[in-house]
Amino acid sequence: MPVNLLEFDLEQLSQYCESLGEKRFRATQLFRWIHQRGANSFDQMTDLAKSLRVLLESHCAITPLKVISRQNSKDGTIKWLFDVGGGDAVETVFIPEDDRGTLCISSQAGCAVGCVFCSTGHQGFSRNLTTAEIVSQLWFAEHTLRSEFARSERIVSNIVMMGMGEPLQNYSALVPALKTMLSDHGYGISRRRLTVSTSGVVPMIERLGRDAPVALAVSLHAPNDTLRDRLVPLNKKYPLAELRQACVSYLAVAPRDFITFEYCMLDGVNDSLEHAQEIVDWLRPTPSLKLQPLPAKINLIPFNPFPASGLLCSSPQTVKAFSQLLLAAGIVTTVRKTRGDDIDAACGQLAGEVLDRTDVVHRMSKQKTIPLKPIESLQ
Ligand code: SAH
Ligand code: SF4
Repeated sequence: MPVNLLEFDLEQLSQYCESLGEKRFRATQLFRWIHQRGANSFDQMTDLAKSLRVLLESHCAITPLKVISRQNSKDGTIKWLFDVGGGDAVETVFIPEDDRGTLCISSQAGCAVGCVFCSTGHQGFSRNLTTAEIVSQLWFAEHTLRSEFARSERIVSNIVMMGMGEPLQNYSALVPALKTMLSDHGYGISRRRLTVSTSGVVPMIERLGRDAPVALAVSLHAPNDTLRDRLVPLNKKYPLAELRQACVSYLAVAPRDFITFEYCMLDGVNDSLEHAQEIVDWLRPTPSLKLQPLPAKINLIPFNPFPASGLLCSSPQTVKAFSQLLLAAGIVTTVRKTRGDDIDAACGQLAGEVLDRTDVVHRMSKQKTIPLKPIESLQ
């Protein structure tokens, strides 16, 4: 198998070029051809010496993921399903807005965290994506859309690692991918416009702050350990106090002066005014606790229901009352608009459904059963 150059960040590509006996700066040219111009063959790279192109051809390739399907939503959202082999597929979603184009990227096939409200979590874990598979989603979306829209300037301005999988449980593949996204010779995405979303892998939040400090979103979903243990099982390993401390430390290096907390609104589960007040108290503890306040933005996500969850979305009135309590306490709070729900591209609906339908037996044999508690007992 030839080496896939989508696997390397610029530093790694420089080392690779050196290992082939080439000068390091050739890597910059090569990197720009691949990521800025979307080249997938060495023939296109006309400013590289013919001898170098022949050398590269015999050792490596630029191999993106294969597309299984594409769906276009009425609201302009586009969802691609990519084949990652072994019967697995991952999804990537492009969300156009007036002032930005956001790409939502997957980091794993399935997810091992098993949050009760997430269809990827219900699917279970298949495997980590490689760096090439993560970067490939951006490479493909950017260059496909650029040629479709006949634009020479960048299409993807913002990236959220909010597709399938827990990015911080695939750390070693994630970091080079983030570096390629951030590189001026790659996609030139600013650190403020690149968001890693995590269910709270505490030690990796700290490492991310050292290795690639980008914007951080933390999936909170519950303001106390009893409830969070049930909704986000990883909380048993990294409870809220540790998560809070990791967030406070991260702010010292973060490109934004707040942490975004995502909170999925689940009817009768985590959506009472008492829960909202608990969030306020968690962010701004009483002075006697000697904890510093945690600057935060809360993003309330209307739950996208799916049958196996046994859960329902909170009513619009409940979401409004919940957000009003937070706003009255001075906490910046937004309610996320649902995009692309006619094509199942909304949060938590990313479960490789096309493949599910064609490959049900295979999928069922892999599915991890997550015991669901009755809704009453989740309160
Ligand atoms: N694993 C990471 C990133 C992927 S999930 C994380 O959990 O943060 C991206 C976001 O979608 C998370 O905030 C997650 O809680 C939310 N989400 C998952 N399932 C959802 C659903 N059914 N409805 C609404 N949001 C959901
Ligand atoms: Fe995994 Fe995130 Fe889904 Fe939880 S919400 S199961 S961490 S993808």
